[in-house]
Amino acid sequence: MEKREFLKVAGVVTAGSIILPLASCNPQASSEEESPEKETKVNTTTFELPALAYGFDALAPNIDARTMEIHHGKHHAGYVRKLNAALEGNTKFAGQSLEEILAAVGEEDTSVRNNGGGHFNHTLFWDSMSPNGGGTPEGDLKNAIDAAFGSFEAFQDQFSTAAKTRFGSGWAWLCKDAEGKLFVTYTPNQDNPLMTNLAEAKGTPILGLDVWEHAYYLNYQNRRGDYIANFYNVIDWAKVGSRLG
Ligand code: MN
Repeated sequence: MEKREFLKVAGVVTAGSIILPLASCNPQASSEEESPEKETKVNTTTFELPALAYGFDALAPNIDARTMEIHHGKHHAGYVRKLNAALEGNTKFAGQSLEEILAAVGEEDTSVRNNGGGHFNHTLFWDSMSPNGGGTPEGDLKNAIDAAFGSFEAFQDQFSTAAKTRFGSGWAWLCKDAEGKLFVTYTPNQDNPLMTNLAEAKGTPILGLDVWEHAYYLNYQNRRGDYIANFYNVIDWAKVGSRLG
């Protein structure tokens, strides 16, 4: 087949001008023979709001039922919905897990950053609390906290200070670094230490405390310090310890 005849068959001859498809730098190539790396994968993953493992009123009086209901059913649900909207038709994060997305997210990915962070952070938060929580860590987690901070009380002091001094909205974190050593940090907004392109301190969060006003204002108003102090009454240390890996 001559080149012109091939192009006619391919449907790219228009009114005397010829528009060459990318593949026709080799006139023998048909579109089916284009190299696989030219195919663009489009995201088809959708994320879902996880159910709480306890009732809205289960953490009261430390966290009141109305706050839990709005926080989970409105705020967290909104992050999931907006994350799915931001990922619809997306190519950069196609087929990636939430952790992979957060590791790759950059300044330019505003909605994926805010809502992907929001989904991860709240999922970890709900799963770090229990109506049977409180007390102090045991076993490997106790040893890791003692090794990193000196004592549980010294850890609490660092974590509470991070939560109190995070100006505006954000999160306080207990994380493990690449060597498994624990450290405390905080992040603004819905960022977290998994965001290697954005976080000052990078690591894997094993415990997070939401210090956005929406997390405590109905019950505590401006008394963030009281909310932080009462958080220790509901921490599920066995769950947190299971993330030491
Ligand atoms: Mn929140």
